[in-house]
Amino acid sequence: IYILGIESSCDDTAASVIHNGKILSNVIANQKIHEEYGGVVPELASRAHQQNIVPVVDQALKKAGITKSQLSAIAFTKGPGLMGSLLVGTSFAKSLAFGLNIPLIDVNHMQAHILAHFIDEEGFDQPPFPFLAMTISGGHTQIVKVNHYFDMDVIGETIDDAVGEAFDKSGKLLGLGYPAGPQIDKLAKIGNPKAFKFTKPKVDGLNFSFSGFKTAVLYFIQKQVKENPNFIEEHLNDICASIQYTIIGILTDKLKLASKQTGITHIAIGGGVSANSGIRQALKDGETKHGWTTYVPKFEFTTDNAAMIAIVGYLKFLEGNFAEQNVMANSRLKI
Ligand code: ATP
Ligand code: FE
Repeated sequence: IYILGIESSCDDTAASVIHNGKILSNVIANQKIHEEYGGVVPELASRAHQQNIVPVVDQALKKAGITKSQLSAIAFTKGPGLMGSLLVGTSFAKSLAFGLNIPLIDVNHMQAHILAHFIDEEGFDQPPFPFLAMTISGGHTQIVKVNHYFDMDVIGETIDDAVGEAFDKSGKLLGLGYPAGPQIDKLAKIGNPKAFKFTKPKVDGLNFSFSGFKTAVLYFIQKQVKENPNFIEEHLNDICASIQYTIIGILTDKLKLASKQTGITHIAIGGGVSANSGIRQALKDGETKHGWTTYVPKFEFTTDNAAMIAIVGYLKFLEGNFAEQNVMANSRLKI
């Protein structure tokens, strides 16, 4: 079974071909245009998707060494994401499936960040049901109880900003380019995580909050820069390490609570922020500290990619779970 997956929910145009759970190709066109604006500009993203989608799909097929006529189905991201971006992938997938007369499969992007763990990759175990998945990305921060592939309960989520925004907005205050997450990660490696202390937000239960944290970083920087205009340059590594350390603490505190409340010790992470080396290490540490069995995705399946869309397509294909030709993109699609 060959599935073509198409992802266009935000600013990456991606296509991937999967053969019975194994990735044959995974192509991504990043949109550089947004860097100069310090964030994704929806209208520009949509236009860039229109330019990229045909060459990206062509390349994915070529790299997989197959032709369109060998495809069993087309899977695409239905949501959540930017409407103008989603529409490009959705209409392209619909036309291609219609033209080839093969099934069309709609995919929830947040489920895909979790189900990326079911890509057949050497050296990566697949979590057994039920497991806990923490999805940490540019637009979401959730703890999900995964009972089965398409039976998931969100048991905790952010009440304001996503953790990716906490990274990106803190980085912006430090003068780092967009997205700042990967840069904070890099600088944090050579900084002291305990150099500066930021208080963790107090949110009951399994929910998260990051807007107060962002403000705390802002006030801290403003105060320090007043006393020493060169504060940021002189302490950049330590500031990044301290910010990252605090964020990791917030995330692991909630994971510990979720594991305790549910009695589930198999724990996975997914989404762009799961690329963060500190978070990956903290999760691994949980194995000895808390008796967890942890699942950290292969690096290339953390940030947005089409392989995760293709694997969900494959799992839905096996269940005969197809979409109709009149399926619509949904920018606020829930798990
Ligand atoms: P969503 O999946 O919620 O719709 P998205 O698709 O825009 O949002 P992803 O591509 O999954 O988001 O993740 C992007 C986010 O991941 C950005 O905020 C980026 O800064 C962050 N990120 C990527 N790599 C790292 C890293 N190494 N450390 C910290 N954050 C990172
Ligand atoms: Fe994403």
